[in-house]
Parts: sequence; C-alpha cells; structure tokens
Amino acid sequence: MRKILLSFIVVLFFQLNSWSQQNHSTTIFTKGKQITANFTGVVWVQQLVAKDSIFNLVAGNVTFEAGARSYWHTHNAGQILLVTDGIGYTQEKGKLIRVFHKGEVIICPPNVEHWHGASPGSSMTHISINPNADKGVVTWLRPVTDQEYNGLRSNN
Ligand code: MN
Repeated sequence: MRKILLSFIVVLFFQLNSWSQQNHSTTIFTKGKQITANFTGVVWVQQLVAKDSIFNLVAGNVTFEAGARSYWHTHNAGQILLVTDGIGYTQEKGKLIRVFHKGEVIICPPNVEHWHGASPGSSMTHISINPNADKGVVTWLRPVTDQEYNGLRSNN
C-alpha cells in the first residue's frame, strides 16, 4: 500500500512539474518541422504567411536550439526578425557578432551577407518577415564555422 502511494506521489510530482513548465513556456506559434538544409544544429520552422500576389511577403516562426545557426546568406529585398524568445547571435560579414534578446527587432538590409541563430547557452525564437518576396527571399551560401560562431562579440 505504501509503495503504491509513494509511486502515485512520484508520478503526480513529475506531472505537475511538466504542466508547470508548459505554462511557463513563452512559445507563441507551433515549432513546426525540424529542418537540416542550410542550418547547423537543431532548427524548427513553421511557415506563418505564404507568398501571394496580394501581400508579396513571406513570414515564418523559426526556433533555434542552443548553438544552432543559419548558414551565411543574403536577402535580395532584406529581412526583419522579431525576436519572441531567448538569446541569439547575428553577424554581418566583416562586423562583430551582435548578441540580441527576446523583444528586439533585427533588420537585415538587402544584399548584406549575414547569419543568425541561437547563442551557445540559450535557444532563440524569431518571426522572420521577408518583404517584396517577388525579388527573391533568400540566397544560401556556406555554413558558419565554429571559429566564426565563437568569434568576437560587440558590447551592445
Ligand atoms: Mn537572414
């Protein structure tokens, strides 16, 4: 009897812990599908707005687990990132890594080579918006090396 009661308490503890974690999650949109092409590490993408002739933009929810990042890439028409969770890194070619946090907006100007992803110690989620999608959404280049990912960061 005591063993059954103890087992029940243990199960209840883990269930309450699980519910508590779910309730504290800041995730807004579903994580979507895990993708591997053009990213390093574990990355999830959920398309939110598909390209069409009326709005001419693409929007998606992208979740990077700690250490994950995109390849180097450019956007012909630029990109806006709305950071909804975690701590991330981004870098434009020839500049230092910029650290950013939940609540920040990152502007990626047209045709500037860059990458973005999570920091080593925290996951990061952003909503990506690509305007003027008829000009092209993204051109993928090469992976960000560990040396580049662990490179110098700016102080802001
Ligand atoms: Mn980008």
